[in-house]
Amino acid sequence: MKISVVGTGYVGLVSGTCFAETGVNVTCVDINERKVEMLKEGHIPIYEPGLEDIYKKNVEKGRLVFTTNLEESLKDSDAVFIAVGTPPDEDGSADLKYVIGVAREIGRTMDHYMVVVTKSTVPVGTSVKVKNAVLEELEKRGEKVPFDVASNPEFLKEGSAVDDFLKPDRIVIGTDSEKAQKVMKRLYKPFLLNGHPILFMDITSSEMTKYAANSMLATKISFINDIANLCEIVGADVDSVRKGIGSDVRIGTKFIYPGTGYGGSCFPKDVQALIRTADENGYSLEILKAVESVNYRQKEVLYGKIKRHFNGDLKGKKFAVWGLAFKPKTDDMREAPSLVIIDKLLEEGAKVIAYDPVASEEGKRILGDKIEFAKDEYDACIDSDALVLVTEWPEFRLPNFRVLRKLLKNNLIFDGRNIYDPEELNEMGFTYYAIGRKPII
Ligand code: NAD
Repeated sequence: MKISVVGTGYVGLVSGTCFAETGVNVTCVDINERKVEMLKEGHIPIYEPGLEDIYKKNVEKGRLVFTTNLEESLKDSDAVFIAVGTPPDEDGSADLKYVIGVAREIGRTMDHYMVVVTKSTVPVGTSVKVKNAVLEELEKRGEKVPFDVASNPEFLKEGSAVDDFLKPDRIVIGTDSEKAQKVMKRLYKPFLLNGHPILFMDITSSEMTKYAANSMLATKISFINDIANLCEIVGADVDSVRKGIGSDVRIGTKFIYPGTGYGGSCFPKDVQALIRTADENGYSLEILKAVESVNYRQKEVLYGKIKRHFNGDLKGKKFAVWGLAFKPKTDDMREAPSLVIIDKLLEEGAKVIAYDPVASEEGKRILGDKIEFAKDEYDACIDSDALVLVTEWPEFRLPNFRVLRKLLKNNLIFDGRNIYDPEELNEMGFTYYAIGRKPII
């Protein structure tokens, strides 16, 4: 089989590479010439564990190619996957200009039957718009080329995207065409050998599924963060509470870790977009509105602890920030809590020196010379007033606290992810603040 994947971001590049891994011929298309050049020259523009190996293997086999030319990519394709960005518009709704732009280009250039698949996260009703955009362009050409549309939301997680794509919990496909169903079933069969299901449904339900899934996950995070803040006020330990509730299978242990709020390119924008979809349909999603406002507040919780510790005077203080990415194992800093915390510290006249195992380059691009960048986690702590842990990279979990005690000016740690053991830090003479736990002072 042959497919085109339009957009070579986290979703497009991972999907295209993983499809190639099953023997499909894949052409990945992007309008960003620099990205395509990099990919042609053997360099991956994003960090994603495991991606480089299968990318190289499939490029060598000739099954994975890159181009800026959509028309060329569509030749002989059985399906074209639209995987371009859907950033939030000013009012929070998903901006569909890239998706519809690609749909129009497909309509202008396609010359045989194919399935036009929307993989980007798009609001209910978008597949109809995609269909209409393709039809309009075909009409302008005065040609009748058959095609079907399908919605195929992506559930991969940055940081484990390759694994998630190769071994998905489920595949969701919305289409009203049997022919499209057959094509999609064939393409996805190799990924379903582990027995996980392919769920066919109507297009509207498929589009809705993606938003409902991300909103549910964001709800779990805001819920536990809210509980964590209350735990602190009443003197409970959220870590015990988390274990206490998580052992109930109806609740489960996943996604109930308190922290500095959710970030990334998906949860914030998808929660906003679903609220907007509801508003447009005359319904108010009260829970999600609260999820969003709790999250805004949570991004400032760690900063609030820092400010209170220093009695409001942060001027001239220096903070070592560990972790910039919105979560471990990615270089993505979109909507990262680190940005809010750093901005707040800088506003108060503090200095920041940051280290991230992978996202430091992205940090330099976004923050420029507003902060310093350390060569490693210990380097960041030299003469810093405190360590501020924002992203729980595995290498931050067991640092040498004896060394930290020597490097830091004060034995002071603010842990935004509750990864350290309060008792251990207490024994070592640290002052330790975490989320939803009694501070060790
Ligand atoms: P991204 O910003 O990393 O990549 C989007 C790519 O599309 C860019 O390389 C851009 O140059 C390209 N592009 C834009 N317009 C184009 C056009 N007309 N033709 C060709 N290429 C074009 O985005 P992403 O993180 O991969 O997300 C893509 C979509 O998938 C979004 O809707 C997102 O919500 C959804 N999604 C993302 C994730 C994730 O973890 N990142 C997970 C599931 C779903």
